[in-house]
Amino acid sequence: MLQEQDLGHWRRTHYSSEISPSIGDSEVVVMGWVASVRDHGNIQFIILKDMHGEVQITAKKGECSEPIFEMAKEVKEHSSIGVRGKVRPQEKAPNGAEVVPSEIRAFSIAKKAAPFMMQGKTSTVGIDTRLDLRAVDLRRNYLGAIFRIRQTVLNSVREFLARQKFIEVNTPKMIATATEGGAALFPIFYYDREAFLAQSPQLYKEQLTMAFESVFEVGPIFRAEPSRTNRHLSEAISIDVERAFVDYNDVMSLLERMIVNIIETIKERNADDLKFLESQLPAVELPFPKYTYSDLIDKLQEAGERIQWGDDISPQVMKSLQDDRLNSFYFIIDWPTSTKPFYVKPGTADGGRVCESFDLMYGALEMSSGSTRINRKDQLVERMSKQGLKPDAFDYHLRVFDYGVPPHAGFGLGLERLMMALTKIENIRDATLYPRDIDRLAP
Ligand code: ATP
Ligand code: MG
Repeated sequence: MLQEQDLGHWRRTHYSSEISPSIGDSEVVVMGWVASVRDHGNIQFIILKDMHGEVQITAKKGECSEPIFEMAKEVKEHSSIGVRGKVRPQEKAPNGAEVVPSEIRAFSIAKKAAPFMMQGKTSTVGIDTRLDLRAVDLRRNYLGAIFRIRQTVLNSVREFLARQKFIEVNTPKMIATATEGGAALFPIFYYDREAFLAQSPQLYKEQLTMAFESVFEVGPIFRAEPSRTNRHLSEAISIDVERAFVDYNDVMSLLERMIVNIIETIKERNADDLKFLESQLPAVELPFPKYTYSDLIDKLQEAGERIQWGDDISPQVMKSLQDDRLNSFYFIIDWPTSTKPFYVKPGTADGGRVCESFDLMYGALEMSSGSTRINRKDQLVERMSKQGLKPDAFDYHLRVFDYGVPPHAGFGLGLERLMMALTKIENIRDATLYPRDIDRLAP
């Protein structure tokens, strides 16, 4: 009878992906969870899954011992088990080999069937049912592929920026004042004072260009987004980049090369995942198209949208434009100064009506915002006042501007938004392990 047992001295000798006919008939130990079981009477097939794939365990009556055959019959989906046995070629099995069990150890027997299908690409239940049992949901092949691609994105970003002589930093997530405007802040208790969760590392990464010139951070940003959308999380991961002695054109060029590098790296490292997702990576060509904000407003007005110069451009509005070039990555540049945060540098023409800023878009979805930043104190104080912020509250930040802050520029790129563009995920919640939104704070 199948009973739960401790791991004891059992250790895995091979991952599923390493089980192949070339192993010969030496004994192996594989471990993982049961993805599926098939009962053919005198023959039991168990598909055992681990981090790296699947291996078929084949228990045939008469071939393996009677107790092992009986145990194999009792194995339930999701149980966490180990199998000792010999490998033999089997054309129809994953990697062309199967394991004939001589011992089965059940570490933890599943007590329930999962309330959703584990194998297919699409799920038959709503996302909330899946999220309630997220760790189980994450065993699905579909999400496995998504999160392996996410890993490649992060590795490729780090490798790319290291080649460009960036250093990785971590900035405080508990902060005293807003950086991106006051509405979307989460207040917290900080000893006897009120503080906030950081909406972005903006001011810190700017300060760090004084000493380190080129910095980046991969970290959480917190936004109290009041609305329920498929593209907003309350806690997201931002890839924040800031560089000294350059302007917004230079960082746009850096960003587009970074994106192309990410796509190339996924092609190299995640061919199997892409095949499983049946999804094509975006076709990209350098440089990405650039549209000025003013030109887009004209186009939108021509398309019949009731939009005014100075309004934000929403995804709904963007969808009314028919232009193939707007289906992939492109930049919207030179936004009205009034639409952007106080630290964004106004242009020199027209009394600074537009600023040196850009959004990187993918179709109607915003991926990133960036700009040249103001590096002089008087200009920064003036912009703060115009936006109704109190410069006194930013004293801790403004004081470093007395010591030669270099001209600098940068951007924040949303990791989950980028994942949506790369893998065609429809709901941003599937691009993060444990999503946080207005309705969800657990698991
Ligand atoms: P949006 O207009 O789409 O709400 P935003 O302009 O408020 O975004 P920024 O402050 O420009 O966002 O942040 C930089 C990037 O961080 C965005 O382009 C986006 O990729 C990502 N981001 C911002 N807020 C969120 C969020 N709530 N959930 C997921 N990603 C976000
Ligand atoms: Mg933005």
